[in-house]
Amino acid sequence: MKAVVKYAPGPGHVELREVAEPSPGPEQVKVAVKAAGVCASDLHIYHDDIQIPVRPPVVMGHEFAGVIAEIGDAVHSFSVGDRVTCETSAVTCDQCLQCRMGAYNMCADRQVLGYAVDGCFAPYCVVNARRVHLLPDNVDFVAGALSEPLACAVHAVVENTRVRAGDVVVIAGPGPIGLLCLQLVKAAGAYAIVGGTARDGERLRVACQLGADRTIDVEKENALQQIVEETGGRGADIFLECSGAPAAARLGLAALRRRGQYTQIGLFGQPFELDFSLIAYKEIQVCGALGQTWSAWQRGLALLARGEVDTRTLVTHVLPLTQWREAFDMLEENRGLKIVLEPTG
Ligand SMILES: [Zn+2]
Ligand SMILES: [Zn+2]
Repeated sequence: MKAVVKYAPGPGHVELREVAEPSPGPEQVKVAVKAAGVCASDLHIYHDDIQIPVRPPVVMGHEFAGVIAEIGDAVHSFSVGDRVTCETSAVTCDQCLQCRMGAYNMCADRQVLGYAVDGCFAPYCVVNARRVHLLPDNVDFVAGALSEPLACAVHAVVENTRVRAGDVVVIAGPGPIGLLCLQLVKAAGAYAIVGGTARDGERLRVACQLGADRTIDVEKENALQQIVEETGGRGADIFLECSGAPAAARLGLAALRRRGQYTQIGLFGQPFELDFSLIAYKEIQVCGALGQTWSAWQRGLALLARGEVDTRTLVTHVLPLTQWREAFDMLEENRGLKIVLEPTG
């Protein structure tokens, strides 16, 4: 079968190449991939500038939905033909403190699908049955491929941040993760302000369509002043940093009210200077979010099934897997929002 493979360490070194079709081990299932989302982190794997372990040669891709084509001997929870999606924590140690507490996204030995274990930019992908989730009947494969970023957003917004009705929440960065966080914030009954740059114009329009109460072009407007005015001088209750831009992190600490919550979701790529004493002066509660576990997937899929979160609107392009390079280029140039590849297309 033809798969998109990161075949060596270093920048680049990705190509569509022939690889052996995988077969499932006793506790695994083989999934015929119907739709696979391209993630910004795939670009980081391409450029070799991400701190999550990558083990080439490896089939890339970690966001997908498909149909079970074959099951291992010890798998009793699924059948051939089931429509499914799957978590990205392909290998975890199951022994460390984090694993034993259920936070296996934080396992130091975690190996991620599409990074260290063969992923879904291929016609078939083999995954552990215990990480597989049934796709709700009313969720199509393209929308279902985004259940991974949705689960990340659920973990960040619902599990790690306490958003309550009436809160004013600022979301920095209207990329796919920011727009999923936005929908969860709205589902929780909060007031949502989404900030982006001039090149995010189209994304900010989508944010409005998805329920943002207010958008701010941080290059045209004074974001801090706008947030202060919007909250009657008090400051925002919650700041969700989804852009990975140092300026957004600084804005967050400045724009939060005293005792507000700051959640870091975006990755900056490198260290930068930040006035950390603001966290003490304002008693800001800071937390981070990376990946997800079972509970976030279940909640995300339930929200998708009930139509309370819309992932399909985020997908601007569906391309055949053979056009993976075009998809990577588009993402690099900020064209489109979410691109989905179809292996059989
Ligand atoms: Zn991703
Ligand atoms: Zn572990």
